[in-house]
Amino acid sequence: MEDDSSPVLAGSSRRRASFAHCLLIESSDGLVLVDTGFGTGDIADPKRLGQPFRAMMRPELNESETAVSQVRAMGRDPADVRHIVVTHLDLDHAGGLSDFPQAKVHVFAPELEIAQNPPLVEKARYIQEQWAHGPDWVSHAVDGDTWFGFESVKPIDGLGDDVALVPLVGHSKGHSGVAVRGSGGWMLHCGDAYFFNAEVETPRRVTPGFRAFENITQWKRGPRMRNLERLQELRRDHGSEVELFCSHDPETFDAHAHSAE
Ligand SMILES: [Zn+2]
Repeated sequence: MEDDSSPVLAGSSRRRASFAHCLLIESSDGLVLVDTGFGTGDIADPKRLGQPFRAMMRPELNESETAVSQVRAMGRDPADVRHIVVTHLDLDHAGGLSDFPQAKVHVFAPELEIAQNPPLVEKARYIQEQWAHGPDWVSHAVDGDTWFGFESVKPIDGLGDDVALVPLVGHSKGHSGVAVRGSGGWMLHCGDAYFFNAEVETPRRVTPGFRAFENITQWKRGPRMRNLERLQELRRDHGSEVELFCSHDPETFDAHAHSAE
């Protein structure tokens, strides 16, 4: 069944595998990291990422680009990262977890469940070695909260409404966005809910290459497309209040990297 077969991130460009957009948030409860990208463990042992992934994506594994190096480069101590909120646990998002062993790792419950015990067709995307250190997992279920009409969870007790886990399943079983309220308003890190910015514009635009890639890498098409439509509506109706961006789009990544300098 097409909907249930999503082996690994395959058939993409080299550029797209070269970075994953992470956020570092200075909060009243210490530093909070959203996603981790590849980590030092992947650089020490690239083989753990699997031959098909490395052959097709050819990720550039560069120590200076890991989240832990970036945190140090900002003059901060990686040990001060108290919380990590993940959009999902695909290999290109979870590799850095072991670089922050003291952090609580917040994840939507269905994602943790499938990642720890993946069916055969999902095995290649979830690399068990990336969490062999035993992260301090905090698994979250939805409990009636909403964020701009989306079901949501407040993952970090002390931060109230300022950080929200927003389930956007489809790319993976427990894939979620992470909403963060900063001084300039809301940002929604959409993870891999889409790969190309114009997909949430009205009218939507997508290239055949991205469309094929998203179909190959999805867990289920139905919920993925429904969530994509909802993100498009969110951008249309609330675009002045919420900035949406996805993990692997180079334009927003570059814009945010420059604004953080
Ligand atoms: Zn990804």
